[in-house]
Amino acid sequence: MIPVLTALDHLFALADPIDIETVPLRAAAGRILAQSVSARRTQPPFPASSMDGYALKAVEADLHAQFKVVGESAAGHRWNGTLGPGQAVRIFTGAPVPEGADKVVIQEDVTRSGDMISITDDPGPKDNIRPAGVDFEQGMVIDAPRRLSPGDIALLASMNVPEVPVRRAPVVALISTGDELVVPGEDPGPDQIIASNTFGLAAMLEGVGARARILPIARDTESSLQTVLGLAQDADLIVTIGGASVGDHDLVAGVAAKLGMEQAFYKVAMRPGKPLMAGRLNGTAMVGLPGNPVSAMVCGAVFLTPMINAMLGLGRAPAPRIVMPLSAPLGKNGPREHYMRAIVSDGAVADAGAQDSSLLSVLARANALIIRPPHDPARDVGDLVDVLTLS
Ligand code: AMP
Ligand code: MG
Repeated sequence: MIPVLTALDHLFALADPIDIETVPLRAAAGRILAQSVSARRTQPPFPASSMDGYALKAVEADLHAQFKVVGESAAGHRWNGTLGPGQAVRIFTGAPVPEGADKVVIQEDVTRSGDMISITDDPGPKDNIRPAGVDFEQGMVIDAPRRLSPGDIALLASMNVPEVPVRRAPVVALISTGDELVVPGEDPGPDQIIASNTFGLAAMLEGVGARARILPIARDTESSLQTVLGLAQDADLIVTIGGASVGDHDLVAGVAAKLGMEQAFYKVAMRPGKPLMAGRLNGTAMVGLPGNPVSAMVCGAVFLTPMINAMLGLGRAPAPRIVMPLSAPLGKNGPREHYMRAIVSDGAVADAGAQDSSLLSVLARANALIIRPPHDPARDVGDLVDVLTLS
């Protein structure tokens, strides 16, 4: 058996970076910026008022001082003159500050009568002016790689960048295997259950930027599995679920080998999820996951999500762990690294109940996995443990 991190290294070797495409800004949210981009302009492009008020000379802005209002500067419509002594320009938020002015007195500190104003409240030291370029200068760079947040999208828009180079979404073909499976909405026979893993994994992987294709369920015959694998050839990553161990009906490894897969089969020292198969099928990365629903989802979080991140150019890193105190005691762990379904609340974590790898109700209740090292002794409330959060 190999440790999880060793298995992950084997998988990273299959996770080639995906090609780059250019998408409109409107389609770039959540995508991975693939090349750095730079601002096409300076923002603000001129000194701008941050308040509604009167632009004038700071040295003249004494309490009770009077000014003649000589014009108006509104957002999108500047006043084109140069301000002289004793003069003020009515100004609004976002408007260019006129030449000769270096302070905006807010309208609340001013009394106006006709075209005269007087300062009737202490205007204080703030100039209420945003200098040109205070947000960013032309040429300022957003570095790649980076997952684009809504804030990044707003910044790119402000930089006048209408199209963005991003990684193409890796296409993941998800294949359930088993005679007992039907898809949600179908009428299961008396010995059948509903395929859940492909749906959960599709949701998980699309959440990190993949495009999932759920293929027809492969039956437990070589020809059915071959047919479905044939449908997956144009994917960037093929994931089979179930049929991965060594039972009479576990056909994935044999069929993949017949189809020419250069194959590695690993027994990973983890719980749940021991059997894991990986290799290349006609050049396409392929991973075989165990069929038990919780095993498949834990393997998705531990192996597939980091693979997708690597394909997106985000680097080869295991799923991030945080350290947290326990809010309930734990018994000792066995010889394999254990990923326990757990609930984080109020800054502490506790196991979520029964840990059988078929229990999706427990997984759905959980929002995290507690990671126990092999042979970890029993733990008390307050002891620190490694936690992987599930989103
Ligand atoms: P297997 O690895 O094919 O022996 O499957 C192990 C267990 O997981 C069996 O109880 C299967 O019925 C179940 N299983 C396999 N694939 C799926 C799936 N896609 N959705 C739900 N359960 C599955
Ligand atoms: Mg099966």
